[in-house]
Amino acid sequence: MINTPAVIILYITSSLGLAFWNKKKGHGFWLGLVYSLFLTPAIGLLTIALAQKVIVVDTGNGRKRSCPHCFGLTAETMTFCELCGKHIGRQTAKQFLQMAELFIGLVITVLLVKMFI
Ligand SMILES: [Zn+2]
Repeated sequence: MINTPAVIILYITSSLGLAFWNKKKGHGFWLGLVYSLFLTPAIGLLTIALAQKVIVVDTGNGRKRSCPHCFGLTAETMTFCELCGKHIGRQTAKQFLQMAELFIGLVITVLLVKMFI
């Protein structure tokens, strides 16, 4: 499970860290803070999107797939997780599209950062 306040603290800390690193490089603190505020969630969202990808595993006694919520293995035919009871849908075209959007967002952010540094 993702702890929301912990993620926010990590996000702010890493953004401030990047801002200070940017200042040290002589590019200014505020510019560093602004781009890291955009870059950090882009990487974070991409990580979450990749972590939520359903993985199908052949265990020998039937195919099982991973639960995107608790990462436990559950029977491939199940719609709800055997362990945490949450709904596990199949990877849909929409999910792939969302991942693609996140990836494009990340690429644009990296390009913008390169332009300013
Ligand atoms: Zn689960």
